[in-house]
Amino acid sequence: MSIDYLALALDGVRDLHPYQPGKPIEELERELGISHSIKLASNENPLGPSPKALQAIKDQLSGLALYPDGNGFALKARLAQQHQLGVECITLGNGSNDVLELIGRAYLGPGRAAVFAAHAFAVYPLVTQACGATAKVAKAYPADHPTMPYGHDLDAMRALLDETVRVVFIANPNNPTGTWLPRDAVYSFLREVSPQTLVVVDEAYQEYVQEADYPDCSEWLEAFPNLLVTRTFSKIYGLAGLRIGYALSHPAVADVLNRVRQPFNTSTLAQLAAVAALDDQAHVAASVQLNQAGLLQLSEACQARGLAFIPSVGNFLSIDVGRPAGPVYDALLREGVIVRPIGGYGMPQHLRVTIGTSNDNQRFIDALDRVLARA
Ligand SMILES: *Cc1c(COP(=O)(O)O)cnc(C)c1O
Repeated sequence: MSIDYLALALDGVRDLHPYQPGKPIEELERELGISHSIKLASNENPLGPSPKALQAIKDQLSGLALYPDGNGFALKARLAQQHQLGVECITLGNGSNDVLELIGRAYLGPGRAAVFAAHAFAVYPLVTQACGATAKVAKAYPADHPTMPYGHDLDAMRALLDETVRVVFIANPNNPTGTWLPRDAVYSFLREVSPQTLVVVDEAYQEYVQEADYPDCSEWLEAFPNLLVTRTFSKIYGLAGLRIGYALSHPAVADVLNRVRQPFNTSTLAQLAAVAALDDQAHVAASVQLNQAGLLQLSEACQARGLAFIPSVGNFLSIDVGRPAGPVYDALLREGVIVRPIGGYGMPQHLRVTIGTSNDNQRFIDALDRVLARA
């Protein structure tokens, strides 16, 4: 091949490194010739989706020859009711990742910048770079911070704001740290940001958070027309494989995002399953309860072993294994346990472990004991 197709790509695209997903179980078992592996690597719900969502999917299978409703009428109506907002405030996406990209496509580009924190969700740098915009990365709280080690430092983020900054990405709580920002901190940040700068609060794990002081930022959309809140059905709703998420925003911003999205960016099955999932809040409550128990189980196991971890309000825990995490990750794979190394997030000694069933959590703990004893 004499033509360098990489060199022909756009500037931002040429230097992109693809997002590193959690290893699929099938791939691990194929590679190592093992079976009965468990995956605690992508923050999926161990209970799976609501049975009501599965039934909604089965009921619709005969309709798959038809295009979906490109406007997602029924799902938007249900979401409008859920959030007490007008349907014109909603943008549906093929996962909330899609919505994050729409925001980049519409508002970022060469000569423009995005602000986000160190150790923040990997999609923010990816989207920023793919659009050819500049990433301004704020330092995070230090590892020895008393309550929020590695957490977003909103003062540091505020210090990076200038007229080139068109988008600020805040993950609340953040993945992979599990750290969160309280109501007052987010509110005062929003008050100080120029209305010309969009502030995206990514609430992918909102339903899991039990802290009294944790803000549901969708309540502030009327006060701040530059605020966007993103949510997903991939995490507590257990529908990661279907790909559906959404943004809530001022109608004028939603109008822009809806102009750049593909006409059929969310599937019929995803829309129907999402409506049914919203109608099963008992499943959400059961998922929260299982997660709280699992967080406690893993935290206590770490404490008993003298392993540091970042206090988390999400459905995952990032654990400092006290040595380079890569070899520990590899050894855990050979034990049939898939977790996530987060060296790419600037945390080379941490493994992020998704909270599973109590059995799966215990399998992880036992495997970790064997691996650390050998090392
Ligand atoms: C998992 C996750 C998402 C959601 O991704 P989807 O595209 O909706 O599956 C968004 N933000 C954060 C911080 C996440 O961890």
